[in-house]
Amino acid sequence: MNVAKTIAEVRAARWQDPLRTWGLVPTMGALHEGHLALVRHARAENDRVGVSIFVNPIQFNRRGDLDAYPRQLERDLALLEAEGVDLVWTPDEDEVYPPGFQTYVAVETITQVLEGAARPGHFRGVTTVVAKLFNVFEPARAYFGQKDAQQVAVVRQMVRDLGFNLEIVVGPTVREPDGLALSSRNRLLGPDERQAALVLYHALTAAQDIWQRGVRDGSALRETMRAIIGAEPLARLDYVSAADPITLQELHNEADRVLLSLAVFVGRVRLIDNLLLGDGANE
Ligand code: AMP
Repeated sequence: MNVAKTIAEVRAARWQDPLRTWGLVPTMGALHEGHLALVRHARAENDRVGVSIFVNPIQFNRRGDLDAYPRQLERDLALLEAEGVDLVWTPDEDEVYPPGFQTYVAVETITQVLEGAARPGHFRGVTTVVAKLFNVFEPARAYFGQKDAQQVAVVRQMVRDLGFNLEIVVGPTVREPDGLALSSRNRLLGPDERQAALVLYHALTAAQDIWQRGVRDGSALRETMRAIIGAEPLARLDYVSAADPITLQELHNEADRVLLSLAVFVGRVRLIDNLLLGDGANE
């Protein structure tokens, strides 16, 4: 496995054999089974697999969140080696944002809601770094998790708008046996908080239950989730949403599909989760 620091090193490895197709899995490290599932997906569909590990400072809107973000590079590299990854990019901040950096990519409308509204500047940071990753690796396919549903929508929009020559592939959310969505931030939870964090999945599945019993009213779905989060003393709701999966606008009328999503502080740790329901949904 080739571990590269500089863009020049990535390009040299990437173009060693120009006829090979590359799959790219962008990550911020502290890898878990959710990341590794994306790596396996990429492994199955491409001749070569690249992974980036970069805790992207410009997508963090809270300094404390950036400082607390788990980092464990040696362990990550061992996990990726075992998955047969060909190339890992672990750039320093200066390599991604050289001195004098002043070029950003911003998707406008669908970043105004949900995570974008709660975390000003977050998606501008995401699309800027993802655009750079796409330019550096030039992959045929890039792999993202449904866990970050709005990120998928925003990256797809960017690819469409700017004509990036690649396919976006989305992997399902990987969960603990009790339903908690895997997240690098889970390891920041204390034991009581880890238990309380289940409330996100409980809220989503309660809303899923009433959807399956025929309730199509967005406000009833949101209210169901809000009530369950409100009953957990260690949890503080940031937002709940029952939105159109494409436009991400809140549903007020009946719909065939809905993206349920929520963000909740458990102690000091902010967690997100979502479920896609209705026609063509895979959960
Ligand atoms: P991150 O390291 O948090 O930036 O995540 C890197 C990629 O892994 C993103 O595309 C995430 O959506 C994806 N990912 C994170 N957690 C999960 C999960 N539990 N299931 C599936 N994909 C995930």
